[in-house]
Amino acid sequence: MNAAFMLRTEQAIEGLHRLAYNLWWTWNPKAQDIFKMLSERKWRSSNHNAVAVLLAISHEELQARLCEREFLERIENVLQEFDAYMSRQDTWYNVHTEGPDGRLIAYFSAEFGLHECLPIYSGGLGVLAGDHTKSASDLGLPFVGVSLFYRNGYFQQTLGPDGWQHESYPLVDPKLLPVQLVTDEAGNPITASVEIGHSIVTFHAYRVKVGRAVIYLLDTNRPENDLHYREITARVYGGDSTTRVMQEIILGIGGVRYLRQLELQPTVYHMNEGHSAFLTLELLRERLSRSDTREAAEQWVRRHCVFTTHTPVPAGHDRFTPDLLDHLMSGFRQSLGLEHQDLMSYGRERRDDMQETFCMTVLALRMSRAANGVSELHGQVSREMWAGFFGVSDPAQVPIGHITNGVHILGWMANRTRQFWLKHLGAKWIYYLKKQAIWTQVSDPELIPDEDIWALRYGLRRDLIEYVRRVMRHQYQRMGADYSVAQDSILNPDALTIGFARRFATYKRAPLFFKEFNRVVEIINNPDRPVQLVFAGKAHPRDDMGKRFIQEIVGYSKNPALFGKVVFLENYDINVARHMISGVDIWLNNPRRPMEASGTSGMKIVIHGGLNFSIQDGWWREGYNGKNGWSIGDDANLADQDQQDANDAAFLLAILENEVIPEFYDRDEFGIPRKWIQRIRNSMETLIPQFNTDRMVSDYVNMYYNKQD
Ligand SMILES: *Cc1c(COP(=O)(O)O)cnc(C)c1O
Repeated sequence: MNAAFMLRTEQAIEGLHRLAYNLWWTWNPKAQDIFKMLSERKWRSSNHNAVAVLLAISHEELQARLCEREFLERIENVLQEFDAYMSRQDTWYNVHTEGPDGRLIAYFSAEFGLHECLPIYSGGLGVLAGDHTKSASDLGLPFVGVSLFYRNGYFQQTLGPDGWQHESYPLVDPKLLPVQLVTDEAGNPITASVEIGHSIVTFHAYRVKVGRAVIYLLDTNRPENDLHYREITARVYGGDSTTRVMQEIILGIGGVRYLRQLELQPTVYHMNEGHSAFLTLELLRERLSRSDTREAAEQWVRRHCVFTTHTPVPAGHDRFTPDLLDHLMSGFRQSLGLEHQDLMSYGRERRDDMQETFCMTVLALRMSRAANGVSELHGQVSREMWAGFFGVSDPAQVPIGHITNGVHILGWMANRTRQFWLKHLGAKWIYYLKKQAIWTQVSDPELIPDEDIWALRYGLRRDLIEYVRRVMRHQYQRMGADYSVAQDSILNPDALTIGFARRFATYKRAPLFFKEFNRVVEIINNPDRPVQLVFAGKAHPRDDMGKRFIQEIVGYSKNPALFGKVVFLENYDINVARHMISGVDIWLNNPRRPMEASGTSGMKIVIHGGLNFSIQDGWWREGYNGKNGWSIGDDANLADQDQQDANDAAFLLAILENEVIPEFYDRDEFGIPRKWIQRIRNSMETLIPQFNTDRMVSDYVNMYYNKQD
């Protein structure tokens, strides 16, 4: 080894550290491969955590491993790609928006679903925030995120022999995560504090780099805090409503203060759901302390805040009693110079109704210059819900618009799928995901033959099935099921495979498929046209009805008539989701309308050639065009829920029997289901350019972020 080579390896080792601490690797499979090759076992056992892998390997080993030139060059190539990504100047944002502007968008969210190794999310809201951030980076927005560091994360799910969900909260060690404590030059943590009641609660923060964006995760686990304050940020949505208010104080008020500690002055504050709405009161306090009048201060706050609502039913909005707020906000309220009823009035629909609770959505709506729902239907439902608050009789006049959600396509793409698109479209396409022209080409069988799409589908289905066989082995033992059957008989690689995975909120009606049980058993067991289902999902720890739904489906999966044909995968997370959304042929979604504000899981399947089979709710009401998947039910909401359930279940099975199954199994002499593949092409062409976060974030820029006076 000579000195020049030594320098090269040292630079690459230094580069690996840079790479591991930037979640850019979560949407770059070549970067992931490097960490996987360094230690395959650690990669798997750490839930694919690049930092955990790197810290498990000595410097000596790295030096030795990088003496292998191919490996060194592989690392250098990825680092080059990473550096080019980070320093790129001709980003969409720079090209699209005018001039140097000093804009900074601060995006506040109670959860961020960025990767399976960082358990600071519970479901769709977090995954959306994570995907939003990744696209903000890809598009080059000046963007900073704010959330909480939950050291116990969200719970891990295991299933007992009776199919009942059990929850555990493993402690995560921040030192082993792709996060870094935020410190000053002397290495001391940078802290800030908030008043809770009359106590002062201090917090530090961890920095998460997501490409070019940064997220700050606030953490009250500090020695100077009383023990119960150290627990505030322990769990995602943990505890009772007292904990909830305290979390929201840290997130909203603490979040703004922390940005100030870092000398950041965002030009837009985007509240992703109402949890962070207290930030408007902290901004109000800042303005009042500069001796603005109350009116001028409120106007300033409104000019700088935008709000996205995600909740289509009144009961879903955070509401707190006057007593609770009086108790927890008294110190802060005094610094704001407000009386209790004054403070309460900001969160009340009728400002002087002393009986009314404090609603975070009302606060956010009152203090934002713009608000939006997350699909067209949800925008409409939100306008109807808040017409009274805005004092108008015609919902069309309510100032709530909509931007339909999307997904970060590269982050959800299986490597097999990525290779497929690289081969068929070339390397440049990944920068232009929202361009319709790219996806119009997909309808050209000259460019992409049916046979190639069918081969991709078979490959992805096999990948899923092998994953399921691997994990079900341990799970069946825990569930007390007989595992003497050969592992290879779990799921059939030739069968039409339906996926259903999401939080087990009851409105999502997970067991609806089984409503006509005998008919379903017959469909699944048809020897010529078999059908199989893969389920996953967690119920909220306090939602016994959701847990009973899980138990019901686990029961079916152990029923001899369905064993190996219906499976329930434990511990739904981003990793389980990634396997499922790429492997299934059909994604089933049957919520009770109009409860699914948008839904995003169905968007993740499209790039892989899966097809949606869904109620006309949320995004699918806009996405479905009659040829790019299937719809369940019509555009009606019955008052009688049981009747609606029965109608939807019957509708679902009829479409399945009469359309979905025949189309999948109708093969030509080469074994190819031509009509099915045509439907896949229609789905890709119409859905990919619309339902992705590049389109969504650019809508936020055009409609909200950059529309400031
Ligand atoms: C995508 C995703 C969700 C959201 O799915 P919905 O269809 O919107 O319910 C929830 N959890 C995980 C882990 C996901 O990946």
